[in-house]
Amino acid sequence: MSSTGTPSAVRPAAADSQGFHTTTPHMLKSSKQYASQTLMGGLSGFESPIGLDRRDRIAALHSGDIGFVHSWDINTSVDGPGTRMTVFMSGCPLRCQYCQNPDTWKMRDGQPVYLEAMIKKIDRYQDLFKATGGGITFSGGESMMQPAFVSRVFRAAKEMGVHTCLDTSGFLNRNYTDEMIDDIDLCLLDVKSGDEETYHRVTGGVLAPTIEFGQRLAVAGKKIWVRFVLVPGLTDDPQNVENVARICETFGEAVEHIDVLPFHQLGRPKWHELRIPYPLEDAKGPNAALRARVAKQFEDHGFKVY
Ligand code: SF4
Repeated sequence: MSSTGTPSAVRPAAADSQGFHTTTPHMLKSSKQYASQTLMGGLSGFESPIGLDRRDRIAALHSGDIGFVHSWDINTSVDGPGTRMTVFMSGCPLRCQYCQNPDTWKMRDGQPVYLEAMIKKIDRYQDLFKATGGGITFSGGESMMQPAFVSRVFRAAKEMGVHTCLDTSGFLNRNYTDEMIDDIDLCLLDVKSGDEETYHRVTGGVLAPTIEFGQRLAVAGKKIWVRFVLVPGLTDDPQNVENVARICETFGEAVEHIDVLPFHQLGRPKWHELRIPYPLEDAKGPNAALRARVAKQFEDHGFKVY
């Protein structure tokens, strides 16, 4: 996650009275806001290659003929501009303390979906995407864990003239070739902290690939919306925020704005359900004063902050 990835409280879909499917909130999004902005989704409408044996599945995964998908939905103004189809891929190499979707961590827990089925789905919605300035967003889990599938879908989307957005931590920078980057219009890039030590404490991973990926996007002329999750006592140190701002400066004009996402506890039930020790059990979200201080820090570097 993605952004806080931005993904999902897995979105078990629940039919509403009109027969649509609303989804539960994804990552750090407010459930009320999110549910009001999403329709349909789950894993409906995809033909799944159930008959493939393990070896064929691995080969198909490497070629991008199939992808392991957690869920998808149609939303507005959540994962990029306009009305979008957001696809949450399964699998993530990080273990963020504030993850709202620990159920996306293992790729094998996702559902295999044919490339053609995904492309057909985009084709079906392409008029809606174009009319609203929307498109397709890949999120997760970590969308860059399945680079062949994601980049082939993006290639097909670009051939249809559909806007593409990658929601990622950038941690798997090396998985993505320059050619694959060519088909990204916008990246929602999680800069989860500003120095290696804090980044490792927050995610279990290393920061350098995120910086490199952001700089490659910038060189390629792509747009970036940076996402930073503000957790009191974990990511809020003024020097950490300052370091994130300095990293964003290295992306230059590519950065359109920075989303400061306030931590909240919507993901806690999932950690309990999966019986994973939850490190932020008693953590609170940031108060208004802290949010204002952090926003000002970014603004002082010339960034627009949402
Ligand atoms: S652990 Fe993975 S899915 Fe969860 S917030 Fe971190 S990057 Fe996103």
